[in-house]
Amino acid sequence: MSGLIAAAVWLTAAAWACVCLFRAFWEFLALALRTSAQALRPRTPGTPDPRIPPVGTEPAQRAYWSQLMWMDAYASTRAAASAVRHRLLGRWMAVTARRMFTGRQPSTGYRFDHWIARFVVRLLAPGTALGAITGALLASAVLVLVHLVMWLLVALVWLTAVAGVAVLRGADRAGALVRRVRMKCPYPGCYRAFPLAVHRCPGCSRAHRELRPGRFGALWHVCSCGRRLTTVSLAGRDRLAVECPHCDRSLPAGIGRLRIVHVPVIGGTSSGKTMLMAAAVTGLHATAGRSALKVTFATDDDRRDVVDLNGQLKQDGWVRKTQGGQPRALMLRVTHRRRRRLVYLYDPMGESLYDVDSTRRQEYLAHADGVVLVIDVLAEPQVRRSLTAAEEVLARAANPSEPGPWQTYQTFTGELSALAGRRRRGRLPLAVVVTKRDVLDRIDRLRVPATGIGPWLATIGLDPLVRDLGHRFRTRRYWALSAYAATGTGPLVSEQQRAAEAVLWILARTGLRVGKLLSEGASEGASTGRAAPSVPGPRDAPVQDRSSR
Ligand SMILES: [Zn+2]
Ligand SMILES: [Zn+2]
Repeated sequence: MSGLIAAAVWLTAAAWACVCLFRAFWEFLALALRTSAQALRPRTPGTPDPRIPPVGTEPAQRAYWSQLMWMDAYASTRAAASAVRHRLLGRWMAVTARRMFTGRQPSTGYRFDHWIARFVVRLLAPGTALGAITGALLASAVLVLVHLVMWLLVALVWLTAVAGVAVLRGADRAGALVRRVRMKCPYPGCYRAFPLAVHRCPGCSRAHRELRPGRFGALWHVCSCGRRLTTVSLAGRDRLAVECPHCDRSLPAGIGRLRIVHVPVIGGTSSGKTMLMAAAVTGLHATAGRSALKVTFATDDDRRDVVDLNGQLKQDGWVRKTQGGQPRALMLRVTHRRRRRLVYLYDPMGESLYDVDSTRRQEYLAHADGVVLVIDVLAEPQVRRSLTAAEEVLARAANPSEPGPWQTYQTFTGELSALAGRRRRGRLPLAVVVTKRDVLDRIDRLRVPATGIGPWLATIGLDPLVRDLGHRFRTRRYWALSAYAATGTGPLVSEQQRAAEAVLWILARTGLRVGKLLSEGASEGASTGRAAPSVPGPRDAPVQDRSSR
């Protein structure tokens, strides 16, 4: 009896080993590997892939490594495990082993006629079942190893991609820091800073708010229209149309690579700010023609604005009062050798600097890189009191407007400290421009000297202003010019140049090497340059028609 049991045990063991080693193990292994590979196989081209997630608010596909790769790896592992389980339980256990235990043929399910055949099949059944289970377990062990390697590779690819993203972003950030690029919106009501502009796809003009190395791709993003958009600034991202992420208004292309220089032109109503700005822009263009300096309008709007302004000046000889509470910055691209700047010139209307509240709304003052302070000497009551009746007629024709420069200056500096901070304000370069020189030169006691404009201002009744300037602004320089003579029909080139100098001088403070383009002789905190002839202006007659009304 015990001999029979021993024989049965041996038979079972032999069946177990044979089924496991020569059949089940290989079958399960092949099945698992085939299923794993199938899950990773590319789909038929041209048919929609259900795995690809729908596009969200950003109109770009997620990068393969950031999402789909993990889904694929998971799908592959899951498919292999489930194939092995199904084959073991559904085929080996539920069909083969069951047929054998009930004395049937394992492949067809026909019941054996002879009892000996039924007996032998039943005898082999436990070994077969055990062999199948062991084969599945062994194949699973190999599968675990294979998939561990796969997951390691997936993690490695992900880490490499993430490192690449970090390096690319770091390089972009470092470049921006070195070039001191800090993007800010030039539009009123916004003026906000942003780290990344919105880029428009040139194909479908959808707005990409995250066009930088990241989860949508390290080197490029694929737009939902299928177009590849590079994420790297050097590789051409800056050629795309850009917008402000806060107010969605368009910005100059390449804003992400240019250091912005904010220059507010501050002065009272009718002090000739707008004329001065028009003269400075023309002067900058003229200087660009004669030197290594290059000046272009940043956008078509800027070109149009200046063309309109010059047209108005040519036709009427004066400009309408600056309107609106907050100005849109006039943007100029200034290049000198390899250094480039984007200049934002702000021309706020005079009234907006008369009281604290409206001055506070001029938020761009907070990030000014330099200020052009326009002084209309004739608007100062102290100066006017000293004029004779004949001189007063001349002065009144120049259309000066209250309050005087000293009061405007006080409101402005008070708010500047609040907006920019006391320390920054001290370092801020201040270009002081005395305007209406053509009129001043006709009034004997106000004739502007060739040098020493600061001391001269003090002698004619603006000593509190000059003293306060000296106290608050360490870096300052004075100019006197006739913005009127510099604009309109037959403008004086020398006056345009002087107007441009005020802007160039501020640009020189930001590291643009344009110091040589400034007239020599003038020392900081003291005076203007060369002994230019006094400027009567080319148009004698229409002085009374000038300026805003
Ligand atoms: Zn597109
Ligand atoms: Zn904006």
